[in-house]
Amino acid sequence: MRLTVVGCSGSGPGPASAASCYLVEHDGFRVLLDLGNGAFGPLQAVADPDSIDAVLLTHLHADHCLDVAPFVVWHRWSGRSSGRRIPLIAPAGAERRLAVICEEGGKPLTDVFDFRVTPVTAELGPFAVQTARTEHPVECHAVRLTAHGSSLVYSGDTGPSDGVAHLARGADVLLAEAAHPDVPDLPPALHLTGRQAGELAATARVGRLLVTHVPAWVDPDAQLAGARAVFPAAELVRTGASYEI
Ligand SMILES: [Zn+2]
Repeated sequence: MRLTVVGCSGSGPGPASAASCYLVEHDGFRVLLDLGNGAFGPLQAVADPDSIDAVLLTHLHADHCLDVAPFVVWHRWSGRSSGRRIPLIAPAGAERRLAVICEEGGKPLTDVFDFRVTPVTAELGPFAVQTARTEHPVECHAVRLTAHGSSLVYSGDTGPSDGVAHLARGADVLLAEAAHPDVPDLPPALHLTGRQAGELAATARVGRLLVTHVPAWVDPDAQLAGARAVFPAAELVRTGASYEI
């Protein structure tokens, strides 16, 4: 499978990247993991919006879901949509919440999406999908995609979590957030530091760690150094990069 980083900035768009959005492809099937604010622009540089076969939203914070709005507008008004309904997997309440984001009054989005509620264990095209609840102030699910014997785990947003570590066990690639700088008295169950992302990768014995979701106000090199101190096979993602898994 191939992972392409559409947006990797944490907590909102930054000067060099949109917020969270990752394109995962295998055998011509395309899944979007999150569709955060600013992502719909760079998405069009790497994929025709009509070619997206499924969308999975880890949770409903703005930096993970807000660009569902331009995605819907494109499908309704561009004249280039095939009109097929796209499976959208998200926590309970997404159907109503996303409708309100898109339009005052909340016109249903069921003309564009076939809503499915996480947690799921499902097949999406060639992908087997598993999810695990994360440690975050709102309902959030990490996701594991497996295809042709290769596996990718995306942490979504999470504090240190045994459930996410279990989901990630033995994965080829762990795409893990590292939004918190390593400072004292961090709020619990919210985000990972770089070191904690490295600890998650080491505990789960993954092959490779991709560090992501660093906010514009946090030093990315410090996050990577923290991860590498625990798990040397760590690298920092950048927007537009692709990874073969
Ligand atoms: Zn969040």
